[in-house]
Amino acid sequence: MTAELKPPISHQDAFLEAYRCLLCGGPLTPAPCILACPAEVDVPSFIGAISVGEPTEAAEIILSANPLGGTCARVCPTEELCEGACVLNSTRQRPVDIGRLERYAMDHAFNEGDLLVPPKPAHNGKKVAVIGAGPAGMTGAFELARLGYKVTLIDSRPATGGLVRSAIAPYRQLRDPLDQETARLWELGVEFRLDTTVDGELLKELEAACDAILLAVGMGKDATTGCKGGNLDGVLASLPFIEKIKSADLPSVGDRVAVIGGGNTAMDVARQSVRLGAKEVTVLYRRSLDEMPAYAVEYEEAIEEGVRFAWLTSPLQYHGNGRVSAIQCSRMELGEEDSSGRRKALPVDGSDFLLEVDTVIEAVGQTPRADFLAIIPGIEIQSGLIVVDPETGATSNPLYFAAGDALGGTTVVEAVRMGKVAALGINANLSE
Ligand SMILES: Cc1cc2nc3c(=O)[nH]c(=O)nc-3n(C[C@H](O)[C@H](O)[C@H](O)COP(=O)(O)OP(=O)(O)OC[C@H]3O[C@@H](n4cnc5c(N)ncnc54)[C@H](O)[C@@H]3O)c2cc1C
Ligand code: SF4
Repeated sequence: MTAELKPPISHQDAFLEAYRCLLCGGPLTPAPCILACPAEVDVPSFIGAISVGEPTEAAEIILSANPLGGTCARVCPTEELCEGACVLNSTRQRPVDIGRLERYAMDHAFNEGDLLVPPKPAHNGKKVAVIGAGPAGMTGAFELARLGYKVTLIDSRPATGGLVRSAIAPYRQLRDPLDQETARLWELGVEFRLDTTVDGELLKELEAACDAILLAVGMGKDATTGCKGGNLDGVLASLPFIEKIKSADLPSVGDRVAVIGGGNTAMDVARQSVRLGAKEVTVLYRRSLDEMPAYAVEYEEAIEEGVRFAWLTSPLQYHGNGRVSAIQCSRMELGEEDSSGRRKALPVDGSDFLLEVDTVIEAVGQTPRADFLAIIPGIEIQSGLIVVDPETGATSNPLYFAAGDALGGTTVVEAVRMGKVAALGINANLSE
């Protein structure tokens, strides 16, 4: 359906690429690529294993630090993390292609049917419920099961993976290897309760039955601009738009698409619209390039693919007769810094203009799961995010720990890191 942005590499190319690695660092000075990886994957060791023809051993090294190693190989912003830190950058060479080598190792193991599941430990007599089977919950469940806990992983959706399955752009990852990563949890004895939304009643049951509860519920629906005309046909929210594409139900967007927002989701949605055949895709961002939160590489790739940017531009109202046909926009100017430290975008009087469009896609962030969080007794919430001890993932209610986007994370590998922290935090707490 959609070509992969980072397709697999051949055995020969993997060898050649692995030989470029200087295998930096040592026990006292870890390589910069390890330090830049939130999951602390031992990059030189796994690349070293590939270079001596041991890709399964490489996969084992990756999985020992990151149970979602196959997913991260596809979706990690490596240019900002490990590859951005690679020492080869300072010698004017391109960095080692760590992401694709990671994928090579993981694909090799999983294609051979080798799930590389660690030995199942004896049950330690304690039970933990993990609410949310996205990256944070899957990682937390894996680490807890590996430590001997009886783990129940619960999710409203019929399948694991959270936003990886439903929202991450299909040109990065459609679904694979989520099924193998899930099968590893089965093999370790994790019990699954999918298609099950935790409400107040179920929460009480879990509180009575479990020694700890890990909240890995992510964020909720798309936020909206609240512009008048938002209910016209052709005005779409980013998450359902991507989910449709991932389920091969391709939306028809017409020739002219406007994307509202300046984050990585806005870049994904714009680039996806190009792939759907739109001739003019314009991102409307109310500030300027300097303030735009999307990664530089995402912006540059969007430009290469023909996406245009309308800076200092904000939508006021959507017009149309049944279906959207134009956006009334305002030019903006930057004022004083706001509480986020960014300069406030202020409308310029009398600067309104009309932009003709066939489709508008709003990508202005997600809302917190306020209703669900409100039913949990005694947990501190700030600006919709769960407050935890960053060293342990402990919330202000001693039964509850939390991880992932619900704390303000923004990437899969960060959710993996927080899932590991919370699992170790629960273990330390229950071992006292
Ligand atoms: C459009 C988009 C593109 C992205 N692209 C990338 C990318 O390319 N690379 C990258 O690294 N990151 C990307 N991200 C971010 C990444 O997807 C998230 O950081 C990551 O998925 C967070 O994991 P999580 O487990 O915290 O939450 P989620 O993945 O959101 O999972 C939370 C799970 O909890 C479940 N849940 C919630 N409430 C309940 C309840 N009451 N009962 C039962 N289940 C419940 C939900 O159904 C969901 O499955 C993207 C995000 C978006 C929105
Ligand atoms: S920094 Fe680059 S060269 Fe050094 S170990 Fe990491 S990937 Fe290899």
